[in-house]
Amino acid sequence: MVDHRRLGRELELFHADPLSGAGLPIWLPAGAAARHSVESYVRELERQAGYQHVYSPPLGKRELFELSGHLGYFADDMFPVLRLSADDEFVLRPALCPHHALVYRARGRSYRELPLRIAELGGMYRSERSGVLGGLSRVRAISLNDAHNFCAVEQVGAEVAEILDLIRVAHAALGVRPAGFRLSLRGPGEKYVGDDEMWQHAENLLREALSGLPYVEAPGEAAFYGPKIDIQILDGAGRESTISTIQLDFDKPARFDLSYTDSSGGRSRPVMVHRSLVGSMERLFAYLIEVHSGAFPAWYAPVQVQVLPVGPEQLAAAEAFRQECVRAGLRAELVGDGSLGARVRGAAQRRVPYAAVLGAREVAAGQVALRLRDGRAVEPMAAPDALRMISGIVAAHSAELLP
Ligand SMILES: [Zn+2]
Repeated sequence: MVDHRRLGRELELFHADPLSGAGLPIWLPAGAAARHSVESYVRELERQAGYQHVYSPPLGKRELFELSGHLGYFADDMFPVLRLSADDEFVLRPALCPHHALVYRARGRSYRELPLRIAELGGMYRSERSGVLGGLSRVRAISLNDAHNFCAVEQVGAEVAEILDLIRVAHAALGVRPAGFRLSLRGPGEKYVGDDEMWQHAENLLREALSGLPYVEAPGEAAFYGPKIDIQILDGAGRESTISTIQLDFDKPARFDLSYTDSSGGRSRPVMVHRSLVGSMERLFAYLIEVHSGAFPAWYAPVQVQVLPVGPEQLAAAEAFRQECVRAGLRAELVGDGSLGARVRGAAQRRVPYAAVLGAREVAAGQVALRLRDGRAVEPMAAPDALRMISGIVAAHSAELLP
């Protein structure tokens, strides 16, 4: 596997600028286009699974993070408090859960609404030491695919199973190949909230959800508020990190005094399930760039079709075809300069899945000749058929370039 930092530079996906700051990369147009497709896909997958999306600010009052426990248990990983005045202090949030707890308690809740699945692709900040930062894999400004599923205790098992299914679907579409499951448990020390009974209960629920799957146990890797299932990946250097996670939390619902009216009219406390299907956009793309060597599946390739007129006589027809691609929702560009061979090679080097060649014969017949980035050539086909085929591959989130 090639280091994602090198490919990120060569393919102009992102830019690390000392003036922006270590761990604060900038997504360039090509990287942003790929990320946009992935974000849209995940949002739609979640919408179909009953998630409701919200927006919340990346910073909040100091008191919010005192209440959540972050300032007490997680301050080492956070930026220092921002002070406007003595009674107006703010925290760059290290997680989205506190805001989502506020979404939950914005009004009264009934058991009929549970599981209530609140999702957001939101910004958060971690004060990583500059020595460990590199490219997209470790950053200080994080865009997390996050959700908090509030459920009744008896719903937790089914909810976790459903989340595991969604993770599988998302991984298949993106081309993520997990290296294994990990049950992350409490370790020794004082950095955990709650009592033994709470931890035991949460642990048992997760063990049940993992039954039948191979997994390893990792003491000391739990969140400060509860145990979690982590799905691990390996980077090009063989280092392991977490891409997807499901965490059980009995603590925050108590801290925020969350409740719902149960079926007998009494008040009950929900459980909070923190989950991420694909992790942060930064770590996800660090991994995807390496595992695909930059050759993403067509649906999130930065440029999906490069249109190549053989000569200036085909320029108008080529531009018309490019516009049809764009109208069909594809990312397409026209490259007219240089020899055809060099342009076909250039498209493949930039990992563009489809080069559409238009020569005199193709234009006369209303056709295009597709060249794939892996070197395969397709017999010339009617332009609308080519467009339909590519659009179909993209809409299906297929890993293949041909049906
Ligand atoms: Zn959370």
